[in-house]
Amino acid sequence: MAFSLTDEHRAIRQAVREFAEEEIVPVARQHDEEGRYPEAIRRTAAEYDFVAPNIPIEYGGAGMDKLSTVLVVEEFWRADPGIGSAVGSAGFGTDMIVEFGDEWMKDEWLPAIAAGDAVSASAISEPAHGSNVAGIETRAERDGDEYVINGTKMWITNGTVADVAVVMAKTSPGESHRGITAFLVPTDTEGFRPEKIDNKLGIRASDLAEIVLDDVRVPAENVIGEVDRGFYQLMEFFASGRTNVAAQAVGAAQGALDAAIEYAGEREQFDREIAEFQAIRHKLAEMATSVEAARSLTYRAATAVEDGDQEIAAKFSSMAKLFASEHAVDVADDGIQIHGGAGYVTDHPAERYYRDARITKIYEGTSEIQKNIIADRLL
Ligand SMILES: Cc1cc2nc3c(=O)[nH]c(=O)nc-3n(C[C@H](O)[C@H](O)[C@H](O)COP(=O)(O)OP(=O)(O)OC[C@H]3O[C@@H](n4cnc5c(N)ncnc54)[C@H](O)[C@@H]3O)c2cc1C
Repeated sequence: MAFSLTDEHRAIRQAVREFAEEEIVPVARQHDEEGRYPEAIRRTAAEYDFVAPNIPIEYGGAGMDKLSTVLVVEEFWRADPGIGSAVGSAGFGTDMIVEFGDEWMKDEWLPAIAAGDAVSASAISEPAHGSNVAGIETRAERDGDEYVINGTKMWITNGTVADVAVVMAKTSPGESHRGITAFLVPTDTEGFRPEKIDNKLGIRASDLAEIVLDDVRVPAENVIGEVDRGFYQLMEFFASGRTNVAAQAVGAAQGALDAAIEYAGEREQFDREIAEFQAIRHKLAEMATSVEAARSLTYRAATAVEDGDQEIAAKFSSMAKLFASEHAVDVADDGIQIHGGAGYVTDHPAERYYRDARITKIYEGTSEIQKNIIADRLL
């Protein structure tokens, strides 16, 4: 399997890089400190087609291939993972609508999300069920022409800013993965009650919430795809989502490396730049090698997702997410070390990359779950 960047890929990467350096870098620290959602930046990014680049052109999106999407994510996270996360997640759940939604759902929501006028969320995890998606307990019961949804969703990105959510709920409670259905739920529906989680370690500009669903009524036509097939539908996007997280990790690691190189060239000790010390040079060499290895695996995973063989995509996306996320945290840690005491305070971005990179080992399946997936494909 091979991958290479076309001229179009390089042009997209350059355009996102320029946008991110101009619009994101100058305000990154402030957004982190205030835990402020970057509404204005998200809207501007939408004008450049950088929000939900997966949405097809006929629904107002950019219709980018997987490798282009990865480049967008990587560059946003390189500039700042917190704002990158907020902008990059604005279309969470839209893959499900694009692939399995009815035409009216696509017409109503996809153009608005691509234009930056609406935000979506994907509500899968629950307080008692994270890694074990099949165990979810949120219940959707048929009542005439409607479904009534009850339960609690946990750790939902965009929970308080989303206009619409793709909610996974049990329609056949006796079943595990065979009894789950995806529902399109506008967030202004009565009984949809998000509560902001604002004590995060990192990606503090990104919105996160717990959502109580209290007798939330939606028309039966709001079922996305087929009843009881939601888990299988979801599985089709795991490889794509994990490749995105791998790209987040690559971006954060590259940002941490950039900051460390810059600092090593400025800081002097013993009458010379610390960049002249072999200990620092070797650390930088190791960091750069980790970033490139993670990038190669991530682009390879993106190519596998694009090629469409689900088994190959599952293996490479899990490998890419595992490797890129674990190394991103290590690279960011080394970045702090190169900054010395200055790396331990918010005056420099080094500590922010460290805090922000940490999430990539947890969401879209923890590192332990990725190892299970990879091992299942070896044994
Ligand atoms: C900032 C943030 C944003 C998020 N955004 C979303 C979102 O938008 N939508 C959404 O639905 N969810 C979201 N999540 C939830 C995220 O996907 C879960 O936190 C993650 O899947 C882990 O689930 P958990 O927290 O319940 O941990 P648990 O599943 O309880 O895991 C705890 C520990 O046990 C380990 N473990 C569990 N099962 C196994 C196993 N079989 N083998 C080995 N080890 C195992 C885990 O690796 C972990 O170390 C988000 C989480 C965070 C923190």
